[in-house]
Amino acid sequence: MWPRLFPHPSRFPRLLFADREGRIYDHPYLLAMGLSGFDVVLPEREDFIPLPPGSALYVLPERYPVGYDPEAGKPEILYENPYRPGEPAYALAAYLAPAHTQLYLAPYVEAREGLPPLPLFSYAACGFYRGKFWATAFRSDFDHRQEVRFFDENRIEREAKRFESLYANNRLVRHLIRNCVRRYRCPAARNFVLRRWEAPVPTSPSCNARCLGCLSSQEEGGPHIAQERISFAPEPHEIAEAMVPHLKQAPRAIVSFGQGCEGEPLLQGKLLWEAIKLMRRETSRGTINLNTNASLPEEVERLRTAGLDSIRVSLASARQRYYEAYFRPKGYGLGEVRESIRRMKRRGGFVSLNLFVFPGLTDEEEEFRALCELAALGVDYIQLRNHAIDPLWYLKRINFKPEGNCLGIKSLVKRLAQEIPRLRFGYFNPPLR
Ligand code: SF4
Repeated sequence: MWPRLFPHPSRFPRLLFADREGRIYDHPYLLAMGLSGFDVVLPEREDFIPLPPGSALYVLPERYPVGYDPEAGKPEILYENPYRPGEPAYALAAYLAPAHTQLYLAPYVEAREGLPPLPLFSYAACGFYRGKFWATAFRSDFDHRQEVRFFDENRIEREAKRFESLYANNRLVRHLIRNCVRRYRCPAARNFVLRRWEAPVPTSPSCNARCLGCLSSQEEGGPHIAQERISFAPEPHEIAEAMVPHLKQAPRAIVSFGQGCEGEPLLQGKLLWEAIKLMRRETSRGTINLNTNASLPEEVERLRTAGLDSIRVSLASARQRYYEAYFRPKGYGLGEVRESIRRMKRRGGFVSLNLFVFPGLTDEEEEFRALCELAALGVDYIQLRNHAIDPLWYLKRINFKPEGNCLGIKSLVKRLAQEIPRLRFGYFNPPLR
């Protein structure tokens, strides 16, 4: 029986699915549902927004979609393509464009045991309505630094060539152009050659954690890596040569250590210290930021005294058991992370959390309380990122035990803002100077 308070089913996005060839269909009557932890739920109508430009739709191989049957009043697993009887139907998910945060994941049922994990993307719930694709999400940041409409391919390649000759002997610039701009099409590296907004500064070939969702290092049987890890540590003068002009000239300039194509930058503390000193000797303009697992508080404090403006602390969960199950840290834990935040704040620095939003885990009541505790150490900003990981594989790997009282992602943000009014929310590192 259709929920009384819900708008008529005809006003709801219908279930999307795909066939073996990847052709996409909308179901004749099943409605789009969402996944929250292990629970398959019917999102509110207003949870759906038109699929943002720059998003992608991914077919989930050997995974059956789940839709809501408004007549029967219950979810239904779709094993077969109703338009091609005898053929399997595969689930579909939305990989949201940057600056948009997922409210629900795409629900699916695995066709067999032991499926290899899905690639390291986020998988938001999606549907079809009035000729358009929709997804359960909201715009969490109005900064347009990674909007596809602002990336002119020809101009990027022209500037990349110019940078190659301008910095012919600079290994960092060579890495950024050959790998990040041309191979991985990294938006930050593309903004670097366009001399605007946030530029990436990878420095570390090694790490002191083994994240289940690491983009640059994975063990046998894990998801495929998304980027090769940088194989060398640039020199301080190479970093300064490449980044000082960016700090001096780029609008809303930020240079950020700690990228997907490297390990943990704090392990290169001495190099970062010298590079920051060199950059700040040349200019006080722009923001010098560090994306980090915050494992080494002494290094964080030393870099702050050298001129580091902000740190962004990666966080899959503020609860000890899930934090450790995901990061699998070597020689540090949440205690060191907290101490890094304290020391950065004690020295007047800016602290963001890079929160990997995972509906059903991130918005549990217990997680909310743990996030409040961490934020009360002085956190200024929470970046609401979509956790890029195979949902069911991840929950099994961290031995997730649902509490059963989820707030909803939007309500979580509202409650955090009520609890700690100075907290700001977004998606990207904010420019501070
Ligand atoms: S901290 Fe970063 S580099 Fe290290 S394992 Fe985790 S994701 Fe990978």
